Amino acid sequence: MYKNCSDTEYNCIIVGAGAAGLFYAAADETEGRKLIIEKTSCPGQKLLMSGNGMCNITHDGSIKNFIVHYGGKGAKIRTCLYKHNNLELTQFMEHAGVPLKERPDGKIFPASMKAADVLDALLAKADRNDFAFLYDCAVTGIDAGSKGNHIVCISLSDGRKLQTQKLVIATGGASYPATGSDGSFMDVLKRDLNIAVTALKPALAPVFVEHYPYSELSGISFDDVTVSCGGHTERGPILLTHKGFSGPAMLHISQYVKPGEQLTINYLPDRSIAEVYRTIRDDQPANSKGIANYLAGKFGLPKAFAEKLFSVPSRKLSSIGHKELENIVHLMMDRKHTVSGTGGFKEAMVTAGGVSLDEMNLKNMSLIKYPCIHVIGEALDINGDTGGYNLQFAYSSARTAI
Ligand SMILES: Cc1cc2nc3c(=O)[nH]c(=O)nc-3n(C[C@H](O)[C@H](O)[C@H](O)COP(=O)(O)OP(=O)(O)OC[C@H]3O[C@@H](n4cnc5c(N)ncnc54)[C@H](O)[C@@H]3O)c2cc1C
Repeated sequence: MYKNCSDTEYNCIIVGAGAAGLFYAAADETEGRKLIIEKTSCPGQKLLMSGNGMCNITHDGSIKNFIVHYGGKGAKIRTCLYKHNNLELTQFMEHAGVPLKERPDGKIFPASMKAADVLDALLAKADRNDFAFLYDCAVTGIDAGSKGNHIVCISLSDGRKLQTQKLVIATGGASYPATGSDGSFMDVLKRDLNIAVTALKPALAPVFVEHYPYSELSGISFDDVTVSCGGHTERGPILLTHKGFSGPAMLHISQYVKPGEQLTINYLPDRSIAEVYRTIRDDQPANSKGIANYLAGKFGLPKAFAEKLFSVPSRKLSSIGHKELENIVHLMMDRKHTVSGTGGFKEAMVTAGGVSLDEMNLKNMSLIKYPCIHVIGEALDINGDTGGYNLQFAYSSARTAI
Protein backbone atom coordinates (compact mmCIF):
# COMPACT_ATOMS: atom_id res chain seq x y z
CA MET A 1 0.00 0.00 0.00
CA TYR A 2 2.98 2.29 0.44
CA LYS A 3 4.66 1.66 -2.90
CA ASN A 4 4.36 5.06 -4.49
CA CYS A 5 7.61 6.76 -5.49
CA SER A 6 5.85 10.09 -5.95
CA ASP A 7 5.58 10.44 -2.18
CA THR A 8 8.10 12.77 -0.66
CA GLU A 9 8.23 11.48 2.91
CA TYR A 10 9.64 8.10 3.80
CA ASN A 11 10.55 6.05 6.84
CA CYS A 12 13.55 4.52 5.08
CA ILE A 13 15.41 5.27 1.85
CA ILE A 14 18.26 3.10 0.56
CA VAL A 15 20.69 4.66 -1.91
CA GLY A 16 21.96 1.98 -4.32
CA ALA A 17 20.34 -1.31 -5.40
CA GLY A 18 23.55 -3.34 -5.33
CA ALA A 19 24.21 -6.39 -3.17
CA ALA A 20 24.24 -4.54 0.17
CA GLY A 21 21.18 -2.37 -0.57
CA LEU A 22 19.23 -5.41 -1.75
CA PHE A 23 20.24 -7.53 1.27
CA TYR A 24 18.95 -4.69 3.44
CA ALA A 25 15.65 -4.38 1.57
CA ALA A 26 15.19 -8.16 1.51
CA ALA A 27 15.71 -8.43 5.27
CA ASP A 28 13.93 -5.30 6.52
CA GLU A 29 10.44 -6.40 7.53
CA THR A 30 9.58 -3.22 9.42
CA GLU A 31 6.41 -1.30 8.52
CA GLY A 32 6.55 2.04 6.77
CA ARG A 33 7.10 3.89 3.51
CA LYS A 34 10.30 2.47 2.08
CA LEU A 35 12.16 3.28 -1.10
CA ILE A 36 15.32 2.09 -2.83
CA ILE A 37 16.90 4.48 -5.33
CA GLU A 38 19.22 3.20 -8.06
CA LYS A 39 20.98 5.43 -10.52
CA THR A 40 21.16 2.86 -13.33
CA SER A 41 18.25 1.10 -14.98
CA CYS A 42 19.06 -2.35 -13.45
CA PRO A 43 19.55 -3.54 -9.88
CA GLY A 44 22.44 -5.76 -8.75
CA GLN A 45 24.67 -5.51 -11.80
CA LYS A 46 27.81 -6.37 -9.87
CA LEU A 47 26.01 -9.14 -8.02
CA LEU A 48 25.14 -10.65 -11.41
CA MET A 49 28.77 -10.70 -12.52
CA SER A 50 30.09 -11.99 -9.19
CA GLY A 51 31.88 -15.33 -9.25
CA ASN A 52 31.83 -15.28 -13.06
CA GLY A 53 28.06 -15.12 -13.02
CA MET A 54 27.82 -17.95 -10.49
CA CYS A 55 27.93 -15.77 -7.32
CA ASN A 56 30.29 -17.00 -4.65
CA ILE A 57 28.05 -15.72 -1.88
CA THR A 58 30.09 -16.69 1.18
CA HIS A 59 32.61 -19.19 2.50
CA ASP A 60 32.34 -22.26 4.67
CA GLY A 61 33.99 -22.63 8.10
CA SER A 62 34.01 -20.82 11.41
CA ILE A 63 33.27 -17.10 11.14
CA LYS A 64 36.36 -16.60 13.32
CA ASN A 65 38.44 -17.55 10.29
CA PHE A 66 36.88 -14.75 8.23
CA ILE A 67 38.55 -11.92 10.16
CA VAL A 68 41.97 -12.29 8.50
CA HIS A 69 40.34 -11.99 5.08
CA TYR A 70 39.64 -8.27 5.54
CA GLY A 71 43.28 -7.20 5.97
CA GLY A 72 44.08 -5.13 9.07
CA LYS A 73 40.46 -3.97 9.43
CA GLY A 74 38.87 -7.38 10.03
CA ALA A 75 38.98 -7.01 13.83
CA LYS A 76 36.90 -3.81 13.65
CA ILE A 77 33.99 -5.57 11.93
CA ARG A 78 34.19 -8.68 14.11
CA THR A 79 30.92 -7.95 15.95
CA CYS A 80 28.97 -7.39 12.76
CA LEU A 81 30.35 -10.54 11.13
CA TYR A 82 29.83 -12.73 14.20
CA LYS A 83 26.26 -11.51 14.73
CA HIS A 84 25.19 -11.97 11.11
CA ASN A 85 27.54 -14.72 10.06
CA ASN A 86 27.92 -17.10 7.11
CA LEU A 87 25.53 -19.65 8.66
CA GLU A 88 22.84 -16.99 8.99
CA LEU A 89 23.42 -15.88 5.39
CA THR A 90 23.07 -19.43 4.05
CA GLN A 91 19.83 -19.91 6.04
CA PHE A 92 18.56 -16.55 4.84
CA MET A 93 19.12 -17.50 1.19
CA GLU A 94 17.62 -20.95 1.63
CA HIS A 95 14.49 -19.44 3.23
CA ALA A 96 14.36 -17.06 0.27
CA GLY A 97 14.15 -20.11 -2.01
CA VAL A 98 17.80 -20.32 -3.10
CA PRO A 99 19.41 -23.63 -2.08
CA LEU A 100 23.18 -23.36 -1.82
CA LYS A 101 26.06 -25.73 -2.39
CA GLU A 102 29.63 -25.78 -1.19
CA ARG A 103 32.62 -26.47 -3.42
CA PRO A 104 35.54 -28.55 -2.16
CA ASP A 105 37.56 -25.32 -1.71
CA GLY A 106 34.95 -24.04 0.80
CA LYS A 107 33.35 -21.45 -1.51
CA ILE A 108 29.54 -21.37 -1.28
CA PHE A 109 27.36 -20.77 -4.37
CA PRO A 110 23.68 -21.07 -5.26
CA ALA A 111 23.07 -24.74 -6.17
CA SER A 112 21.99 -23.56 -9.65
CA MET A 113 25.35 -21.74 -9.99
CA LYS A 114 23.35 -18.74 -11.25
CA ALA A 115 23.84 -15.29 -9.70
CA ALA A 116 20.51 -14.32 -11.27
CA ASP A 117 18.72 -16.67 -8.84
CA VAL A 118 20.21 -14.77 -5.90
CA LEU A 119 19.21 -11.42 -7.41
CA ASP A 120 15.66 -12.57 -8.20
CA ALA A 121 15.17 -13.89 -4.66
CA LEU A 122 16.41 -10.64 -3.09
CA LEU A 123 14.18 -8.53 -5.35
CA ALA A 124 11.14 -10.69 -4.53
CA LYS A 125 11.81 -10.40 -0.79
CA ALA A 126 12.34 -6.63 -1.04
CA ASP A 127 9.01 -6.39 -2.84
CA ARG A 128 7.30 -8.46 -0.12
CA ASN A 129 8.84 -6.09 2.43
CA ASP A 130 7.05 -3.20 0.68
CA PHE A 131 10.05 -1.43 -0.81
CA ALA A 132 9.30 0.74 -3.83
CA PHE A 133 12.06 0.97 -6.48
CA LEU A 134 13.13 4.12 -8.31
CA TYR A 135 15.54 3.50 -11.23
CA ASP A 136 17.55 5.82 -13.48
CA CYS A 137 17.73 8.37 -10.71
CA ALA A 138 20.81 9.33 -8.69
CA VAL A 139 20.94 10.85 -5.24
CA THR A 140 22.94 14.04 -5.71
CA GLY A 141 22.84 15.73 -2.32
CA ILE A 142 22.12 15.20 1.37
CA ASP A 143 20.90 17.74 3.87
CA ALA A 144 21.05 16.20 7.31
CA GLY A 145 20.65 19.36 9.32
CA SER A 146 17.30 20.82 8.33
CA LYS A 147 15.21 19.08 10.99
CA GLY A 148 17.63 18.19 13.74
CA ASN A 149 19.04 14.74 13.39
CA HIS A 150 15.71 13.00 12.91
CA ILE A 151 14.88 13.80 9.29
CA VAL A 152 17.27 13.72 6.33
CA CYS A 153 16.48 15.51 3.11
CA ILE A 154 17.98 14.19 -0.14
CA SER A 155 18.14 15.72 -3.62
CA LEU A 156 17.61 13.61 -6.71
CA SER A 157 18.99 13.97 -10.23
CA ASP A 158 15.43 14.52 -11.50
CA GLY A 159 15.23 17.69 -9.39
CA ARG A 160 12.97 16.30 -6.64
CA LYS A 161 13.69 16.39 -2.94
CA LEU A 162 12.66 13.60 -0.57
CA GLN A 163 12.63 13.33 3.21
CA THR A 164 13.36 10.22 5.24
CA GLN A 165 13.73 9.23 8.86
CA LYS A 166 16.44 6.73 7.98
CA LEU A 167 18.92 6.93 5.10
CA VAL A 168 20.96 3.83 4.16
CA ILE A 169 23.93 4.50 1.92
CA ALA A 170 24.82 1.44 -0.17
CA THR A 171 26.52 3.07 -3.16
CA GLY A 172 29.44 0.60 -3.40
CA GLY A 173 33.03 1.35 -4.38
CA ALA A 174 34.58 2.52 -7.64
CA SER A 175 35.49 -0.67 -9.48
CA TYR A 176 33.74 -1.74 -12.70
CA PRO A 177 32.30 1.79 -12.99
CA ALA A 178 30.00 0.75 -15.85
CA THR A 179 27.89 -1.10 -13.24
CA GLY A 180 26.96 2.22 -11.62
CA SER A 181 29.32 2.13 -8.65
CA ASP A 182 31.91 4.67 -9.74
CA GLY A 183 32.89 6.21 -6.40
CA SER A 184 31.27 9.57 -7.19
CA PHE A 185 28.96 9.42 -4.18
CA MET A 186 32.00 9.73 -1.90
CA ASP A 187 32.31 13.36 -3.04
CA VAL A 188 28.69 13.99 -2.03
CA LEU A 189 29.38 12.52 1.42
CA LYS A 190 32.50 14.65 1.89
CA ARG A 191 30.82 17.84 0.63
CA ASP A 192 27.45 17.53 2.38
CA LEU A 193 28.28 15.64 5.57
CA ASN A 194 31.95 16.56 6.01
CA ILE A 195 32.91 12.99 6.85
CA ALA A 196 36.31 11.36 6.27
CA VAL A 197 36.65 9.08 3.27
CA THR A 198 39.91 7.18 2.83
CA ALA A 199 41.41 7.22 -0.68
CA LEU A 200 39.75 4.79 -3.11
CA LYS A 201 42.16 2.31 -4.70
CA PRO A 202 41.60 -0.71 -6.91
CA ALA A 203 41.96 -4.05 -5.08
CA LEU A 204 41.72 -7.61 -6.39
CA ALA A 205 43.03 -6.56 -9.81
CA PRO A 206 45.32 -8.37 -12.27
CA VAL A 207 49.00 -7.41 -12.06
CA PHE A 208 50.99 -6.36 -15.13
CA VAL A 209 54.77 -6.57 -15.46
CA GLU A 210 57.32 -5.25 -17.94
CA HIS A 211 58.14 -7.64 -20.81
CA TYR A 212 55.47 -10.10 -19.65
CA PRO A 213 56.67 -13.41 -21.10
CA TYR A 214 53.58 -15.61 -20.86
CA SER A 215 51.00 -14.13 -23.28
CA GLU A 216 50.80 -17.31 -25.30
CA LEU A 217 50.39 -19.39 -22.12
CA SER A 218 47.13 -17.58 -21.27
CA GLY A 219 44.81 -19.88 -19.31
CA ILE A 220 47.54 -21.87 -17.55
CA SER A 221 47.13 -21.83 -13.77
CA PHE A 222 49.18 -22.91 -10.75
CA ASP A 223 47.48 -24.19 -7.59
CA ASP A 224 50.04 -23.06 -5.06
CA VAL A 225 52.69 -20.38 -5.48
CA THR A 226 53.96 -17.50 -3.37
CA VAL A 227 54.05 -13.96 -4.72
CA SER A 228 55.90 -11.18 -2.91
CA CYS A 229 56.07 -7.44 -3.46
CA GLY A 230 56.62 -4.33 -1.34
CA GLY A 231 57.05 -6.33 1.88
CA HIS A 232 53.83 -8.37 1.37
CA THR A 233 53.61 -12.04 0.51
CA GLU A 234 50.55 -13.99 -0.65
CA ARG A 235 50.27 -17.71 -1.21
CA GLY A 236 47.68 -19.52 -3.35
CA PRO A 237 46.65 -20.09 -6.96
CA ILE A 238 47.68 -17.78 -9.80
CA LEU A 239 46.53 -17.62 -13.42
CA LEU A 240 48.50 -16.57 -16.50
CA THR A 241 46.37 -14.33 -18.71
CA HIS A 242 47.02 -12.79 -22.09
CA LYS A 243 48.14 -9.47 -20.55
CA GLY A 244 49.48 -10.36 -17.10
CA PHE A 245 49.04 -12.31 -13.89
CA SER A 246 45.69 -13.00 -12.21
CA GLY A 247 44.23 -15.64 -9.84
CA PRO A 248 43.62 -15.30 -6.08
CA ALA A 249 47.22 -14.84 -4.83
CA MET A 250 47.94 -12.20 -7.48
CA LEU A 251 44.58 -10.43 -6.95
CA HIS A 252 45.24 -10.27 -3.22
CA ILE A 253 48.70 -8.72 -3.60
CA SER A 254 47.54 -6.24 -6.26
CA GLN A 255 46.60 -3.52 -3.78
CA TYR A 256 50.18 -3.44 -2.45
CA VAL A 257 52.13 -3.34 -5.73
CA LYS A 258 53.48 -0.18 -7.33
CA PRO A 259 54.97 0.38 -10.79
CA GLY A 260 58.74 -0.10 -10.75
CA GLU A 261 58.71 -2.50 -7.78
CA GLN A 262 59.96 -6.07 -7.98
CA LEU A 263 57.36 -8.84 -7.95
CA THR A 264 58.88 -12.17 -6.95
CA ILE A 265 57.19 -15.48 -7.73
CA ASN A 266 58.10 -18.86 -6.26
CA TYR A 267 56.44 -21.65 -8.21
CA LEU A 268 57.67 -24.33 -5.74
CA PRO A 269 56.88 -22.78 -2.34
CA ASP A 270 57.25 -25.97 -0.31
CA ARG A 271 60.88 -26.55 -1.24
CA SER A 272 64.16 -24.76 -0.62
CA ILE A 273 66.35 -23.49 -3.45
CA ALA A 274 69.25 -25.64 -2.20
CA GLU A 275 67.10 -28.78 -2.13
CA VAL A 276 65.76 -28.27 -5.67
CA TYR A 277 69.23 -27.53 -6.99
CA ARG A 278 70.60 -30.71 -5.33
CA THR A 279 67.70 -32.82 -6.63
CA ILE A 280 68.28 -31.74 -10.23
CA ARG A 281 72.06 -32.14 -9.97
CA ASP A 282 71.67 -35.65 -8.50
CA ASP A 283 69.33 -36.61 -11.36
CA GLN A 284 71.58 -35.20 -14.07
CA PRO A 285 74.08 -37.99 -14.85
CA ALA A 286 71.53 -40.73 -15.44
CA ASN A 287 68.87 -38.60 -17.12
CA SER A 288 68.64 -38.25 -20.86
CA LYS A 289 65.30 -36.39 -20.89
CA GLY A 290 64.98 -32.90 -22.37
CA ILE A 291 65.17 -30.25 -19.63
CA ALA A 292 61.54 -29.06 -20.04
CA ASN A 293 60.10 -32.59 -19.91
CA TYR A 294 62.19 -33.33 -16.85
CA LEU A 295 61.15 -30.16 -14.96
CA ALA A 296 57.46 -30.69 -15.80
CA GLY A 297 57.53 -34.32 -14.63
CA LYS A 298 59.71 -33.86 -11.56
CA PHE A 299 58.12 -30.68 -10.16
CA GLY A 300 54.58 -30.88 -11.53
CA LEU A 301 54.92 -27.73 -13.64
CA PRO A 302 52.75 -27.26 -16.75
CA LYS A 303 54.82 -28.46 -19.71
CA ALA A 304 54.30 -25.29 -21.80
CA PHE A 305 55.49 -23.22 -18.84
CA ALA A 306 58.57 -25.42 -18.29
CA GLU A 307 59.41 -24.97 -21.99
CA LYS A 308 59.41 -21.18 -21.49
CA LEU A 309 61.99 -21.37 -18.72
CA PHE A 310 64.83 -22.43 -20.93
CA SER A 311 65.82 -21.13 -24.35
CA VAL A 312 66.44 -24.65 -25.73
CA PRO A 313 63.85 -26.75 -23.88
CA SER A 314 64.81 -29.96 -25.66
CA ARG A 315 68.41 -29.88 -24.43
CA LYS A 316 69.27 -32.97 -22.41
CA LEU A 317 69.27 -32.53 -18.65
CA SER A 318 72.68 -34.22 -18.45
CA SER A 319 74.24 -31.49 -20.63
CA ILE A 320 73.21 -28.53 -18.41
CA GLY A 321 76.11 -26.74 -16.73
CA HIS A 322 76.33 -25.45 -13.15
CA LYS A 323 75.52 -21.78 -13.94
CA GLU A 324 72.61 -22.69 -16.22
CA LEU A 325 71.24 -24.99 -13.56
CA GLU A 326 71.39 -22.22 -10.96
CA ASN A 327 69.56 -19.94 -13.36
CA ILE A 328 66.77 -22.48 -13.95
CA VAL A 329 66.23 -22.93 -10.21
CA HIS A 330 65.98 -19.15 -9.81
CA LEU A 331 63.46 -18.91 -12.64
CA MET A 332 61.27 -21.46 -10.84
CA MET A 333 61.70 -20.22 -7.28
CA ASP A 334 62.84 -16.61 -7.27
CA ARG A 335 61.48 -15.24 -10.55
CA LYS A 336 61.59 -11.45 -10.53
CA HIS A 337 59.45 -9.18 -12.69
CA THR A 338 59.25 -5.39 -12.67
CA VAL A 339 55.68 -4.24 -12.01
CA SER A 340 54.28 -1.96 -14.70
CA GLY A 341 50.82 -1.51 -13.14
CA THR A 342 47.56 -3.19 -12.17
CA GLY A 343 44.22 -3.60 -13.85
CA GLY A 344 42.88 -0.36 -12.31
CA PHE A 345 39.24 0.26 -11.42
CA LYS A 346 38.03 -1.11 -14.76
CA GLU A 347 39.28 -4.59 -13.89
CA ALA A 348 39.45 -4.59 -10.08
CA MET A 349 36.88 -6.77 -8.34
CA VAL A 350 36.68 -4.52 -5.30
CA THR A 351 37.69 -1.11 -4.01
CA ALA A 352 39.98 -0.45 -1.06
CA GLY A 353 39.09 2.73 0.84
CA GLY A 354 35.72 4.39 1.41
CA VAL A 355 33.86 5.90 4.37
CA SER A 356 36.35 5.79 7.25
CA LEU A 357 35.48 3.32 10.01
CA ASP A 358 36.39 6.09 12.48
CA GLU A 359 33.20 7.88 11.38
CA MET A 360 31.08 4.83 12.16
CA ASN A 361 29.14 3.43 15.07
CA LEU A 362 29.84 -0.15 14.04
CA LYS A 363 27.16 -1.50 16.39
CA ASN A 364 24.46 -0.38 13.92
CA MET A 365 26.49 0.90 10.95
CA SER A 366 25.37 4.51 11.51
CA LEU A 367 27.48 7.63 11.16
CA ILE A 368 28.49 8.88 14.62
CA LYS A 369 27.71 12.49 13.59
CA TYR A 370 24.38 11.56 11.96
CA PRO A 371 22.77 8.60 13.76
CA CYS A 372 19.94 8.29 11.23
CA ILE A 373 22.35 7.84 8.29
CA HIS A 374 23.77 4.34 7.86
CA VAL A 375 26.55 3.14 5.54
CA ILE A 376 26.84 -0.49 4.41
CA GLY A 377 28.77 -2.70 1.97
CA GLU A 378 31.65 -1.60 -0.19
CA ALA A 379 30.95 2.13 0.37
CA LEU A 380 32.77 1.53 3.67
CA ASP A 381 36.54 1.34 4.01
CA ILE A 382 36.44 -2.47 4.04
CA ASN A 383 37.50 -4.86 1.31
CA GLY A 384 37.74 -8.62 1.54
CA ASP A 385 39.69 -11.34 -0.22
CA THR A 386 38.22 -13.45 -3.01
CA GLY A 387 36.21 -16.40 -1.70
CA GLY A 388 32.81 -14.86 -0.86
CA TYR A 389 34.09 -12.44 1.80
CA ASN A 390 32.80 -9.29 0.08
CA LEU A 391 29.23 -10.47 -0.34
CA GLN A 392 29.30 -11.80 3.23
CA PHE A 393 30.25 -8.31 4.41
CA ALA A 394 27.52 -6.75 2.25
CA TYR A 395 25.03 -9.03 4.04
CA SER A 396 26.46 -8.69 7.58
CA SER A 397 26.69 -4.90 7.39
CA ALA A 398 23.18 -4.62 5.92
CA ARG A 399 21.66 -6.79 8.67
CA THR A 400 23.53 -4.83 11.34
CA ALA A 401 22.06 -1.57 10.02
CA ILE A 402 18.41 -2.72 10.27
C1 LIG B 1 33.78 -9.18 -11.57
C2 LIG B 1 33.45 -9.24 -10.10
C3 LIG B 1 33.30 -10.46 -9.48
C4 LIG B 1 33.02 -10.52 -8.10
N1 LIG B 1 32.84 -11.75 -7.53
C5 LIG B 1 32.55 -11.81 -6.21
C6 LIG B 1 32.26 -13.06 -5.60
O1 LIG B 1 32.14 -14.10 -6.28
N2 LIG B 1 32.06 -13.07 -4.25
C7 LIG B 1 32.10 -11.94 -3.48
O2 LIG B 1 31.93 -12.02 -2.26
N3 LIG B 1 32.31 -10.73 -4.05
C8 LIG B 1 32.52 -10.64 -5.39
N4 LIG B 1 32.70 -9.41 -5.96
C9 LIG B 1 32.58 -8.21 -5.12
C10 LIG B 1 31.10 -7.92 -4.81
O3 LIG B 1 30.34 -8.05 -6.00
C11 LIG B 1 30.94 -6.52 -4.24
O4 LIG B 1 31.76 -6.39 -3.10
C12 LIG B 1 29.50 -6.21 -3.85
O5 LIG B 1 28.66 -6.28 -4.99
C13 LIG B 1 29.39 -4.83 -3.23
O6 LIG B 1 28.04 -4.58 -2.96
P1 LIG B 1 27.56 -3.08 -2.69
O7 LIG B 1 26.08 -3.15 -2.63
O8 LIG B 1 28.28 -2.50 -1.55
O9 LIG B 1 27.99 -2.25 -3.98
P2 LIG B 1 27.49 -2.44 -5.53
O10 LIG B 1 27.06 -3.85 -5.75
O11 LIG B 1 28.59 -1.89 -6.31
O12 LIG B 1 26.18 -1.54 -5.59
C14 LIG B 1 26.19 -0.14 -5.47
C15 LIG B 1 24.97 0.40 -6.20
O13 LIG B 1 24.79 1.77 -5.88
C16 LIG B 1 24.39 2.46 -7.05
N5 LIG B 1 24.72 3.90 -6.88
C17 LIG B 1 25.96 4.45 -6.78
N6 LIG B 1 25.85 5.78 -6.60
C18 LIG B 1 24.51 6.07 -6.56
C19 LIG B 1 23.78 7.28 -6.39
N7 LIG B 1 24.38 8.47 -6.22
N8 LIG B 1 22.43 7.22 -6.42
C20 LIG B 1 21.78 6.01 -6.58
N9 LIG B 1 22.43 4.86 -6.76
C21 LIG B 1 23.79 4.87 -6.73
C22 LIG B 1 25.19 1.79 -8.14
O14 LIG B 1 24.63 2.03 -9.43
C23 LIG B 1 25.13 0.32 -7.72
O15 LIG B 1 24.01 -0.32 -8.28
C24 LIG B 1 32.94 -9.32 -7.33
C25 LIG B 1 33.07 -8.10 -7.97
C26 LIG B 1 33.31 -8.04 -9.35
C27 LIG B 1 33.42 -6.70 -10.01
